[in-house]
Amino acid sequence: MRLRAMAKINLGLDVLGKRADGYHDLRTVMQTVYMYDTLDITMRVRPGIIVETNLPFLPVDKGNLVYRAAQLLMDEFDIKNGLHIRLDKHIPVAAGMAGGSADAAAVLVGVNRMFRLGLSRNELMERGVRLGADVPYCVLRGTALAEGIGEKLTPLPPAPDCHVLIAKPPVNVSTRYVYEHLRLGADTVHPDIDGLLASIKSGNLQGMAAGLGNVLESVTVSAWPVIGEIRECMLENGALGALMSGSGPTVFGLYADGGQAKQARDILCRSGKAKVVYLTKLFHSGGSTRDE
Ligand code: ATP
Repeated sequence: MRLRAMAKINLGLDVLGKRADGYHDLRTVMQTVYMYDTLDITMRVRPGIIVETNLPFLPVDKGNLVYRAAQLLMDEFDIKNGLHIRLDKHIPVAAGMAGGSADAAAVLVGVNRMFRLGLSRNELMERGVRLGADVPYCVLRGTALAEGIGEKLTPLPPAPDCHVLIAKPPVNVSTRYVYEHLRLGADTVHPDIDGLLASIKSGNLQGMAAGLGNVLESVTVSAWPVIGEIRECMLENGALGALMSGSGPTVFGLYADGGQAKQARDILCRSGKAKVVYLTKLFHSGGSTRDE
């Protein structure tokens, strides 16, 4: 069974406050993009989960979310067979694009189908949150508002179509560092999530692009100026809006015009500011399947 695990970007991300358990309450608009890891899942007669990946630095044991996702369902349903999972990563790792969560979600969907467990999408999402706050969204996909720690989801109408330029600078940003250094105070500039939702609901691309906002940029742009430089480069080269995704460091730009987006991609590549530069489109969940 072959599955595609799609990456996400955050069109808007606001942090409302810190909870007693150390997590933060978020309000974020998530959007799937057509950038994906490929998973080939094969049933084995002998028990055990074997994970193999193209990235030698990734764990292949319980440290990998695909292993944990498979184990979760196989334990619950007492599955005696084993699984071989070949994971080909194309989504940048630790980049704010939820690559690991997308892989985990794909495995939940794949194991459910392979062993005919009969779990509904909601039931998979309920299990997914045990693996990570973004996993339920990665099961759902498309355009959605995520609240709580990211697990309370409200599906939205598909965001207006556009070209998406994705660029990851060669810096390592730890999610923990970003949240620990976030100072929420009276002078914090919060993104207008309600305005963003209104633009999405009315299919207004210009409004959506103008409404992009991520409160975490207040930490990352000063610590890693290249994030702001990439955003500016995108805006100077025809982007309707540009923003850091999640806790970074990946930046994306939205373009109405495909030609302009290609030009911006070439300029960014030549600038040497980004290690990964990728031009793609939004992915809408309705009617699509995970199989190739
Ligand atoms: P988010 O947007 O949710 O913050 P991210 O893009 O920052 O996610 P990921 O790429 O999902 O981060 O994962 C980062 C860490 O998780 C890595 O350090 C890696 O070791 C570990 N990890 C475990 N499983 C995977 C996986 N299948 N793919 C990528 N990273 C994984």
